[in-house]
Amino acid sequence: MKNIDWKSLPFGYMKTDYNVRCYYRDGQWGELEISSSEYLNLHMAATGLHYGQEAFEGMKAFRGKDDKIRLFRWRDNALRMIQSARGILMAEVPEELFYRAITTAVRLNKKYVPPYGTGASLYIRPLLFGSGAEVGVKPASEYTFVVFVTPVGPYFKEGFKPVDMMITRKHDRAAPQGTGHLKVGGNYAASLQALKEAHEGGFASSLFLDAHEKKYIDEAGPANFFGIKNNTYITPDSHSILPSITNKSLQQIARDKGLKIELRHIPVEELDTFEEAGACGTAAVISPIRSITDEETGKKYSYGTQDQPGPVSKDLYETLVGIQTGDLADPYGWVELVD
Ligand SMILES: *Cc1c(COP(=O)(O)O)cnc(C)c1O
Repeated sequence: MKNIDWKSLPFGYMKTDYNVRCYYRDGQWGELEISSSEYLNLHMAATGLHYGQEAFEGMKAFRGKDDKIRLFRWRDNALRMIQSARGILMAEVPEELFYRAITTAVRLNKKYVPPYGTGASLYIRPLLFGSGAEVGVKPASEYTFVVFVTPVGPYFKEGFKPVDMMITRKHDRAAPQGTGHLKVGGNYAASLQALKEAHEGGFASSLFLDAHEKKYIDEAGPANFFGIKNNTYITPDSHSILPSITNKSLQQIARDKGLKIELRHIPVEELDTFEEAGACGTAAVISPIRSITDEETGKKYSYGTQDQPGPVSKDLYETLVGIQTGDLADPYGWVELVD
């Protein structure tokens, strides 16, 4: 095990020993290559740089009490990266290659997988982009697939604590028939201005509304939104939202705990009626929301006792984290050991 202060690890990049790469040329994927360099040698006309032909994934490996390393729902990430590739006309990374790449990257960097009980984990970042040179607007004929890993601390250093969010009305993250449902870099570029304004206002993140009517809750910054009321888990149904694997997992757990699940439009006014609200994604699992302020009207929606997550969010969070780390049984077959 590496000598790292695991408990004060930030959610950021730290160099590890190896990464893996694979190149798509002449209509096929080559051999998986192992590299110890953090740099890529790129053609300056690569479509990934000019026309946003780029998609990524984010997942984590956890060390359990038994010291074994666990992957969580990796196949869902592999399939989502295929969807992203299709959506912006890139070569698809086959599931088998994806699996070999992530497990190779994890195995080679085993000593960076944080110990059990630190709240830290190994973040895995698969990346796919057009690396072939083009000047006209069209898909590249060459692609690069990279997987690097980096140990990360818990997303919120203060722990599982409620955050304040801001409803953004000046910016849209994704168009109604755009690429919001794909994990592509362009969506992130489009969200940066809104996030900056939210941060400047003292908010943790921005809540986007549907771009067409500005009536319904869409994405919660780089995470999905959910609300809880009347024993029901409610999350937006929208083409411009990224299908979060964390959200899907929380829905499954909630259903099995006896909650009803509703996937539907959530009008802004309905924010007033939730008992709990949260944002969910791999990085934080759940960020409970303490308040949501509408930047236009100044109206503030508040949830629960101000500094504690609500009981349902807490229960869902603890169950999901328990399954990921192996503390709880995994009745869903979500967890896979890396040996
Ligand atoms: C990655 C991502 C999420 C979370 O997805 P998970 O699979 O739960 O990590 C949510 N929203 C956006 C915009 C994302 O890019």
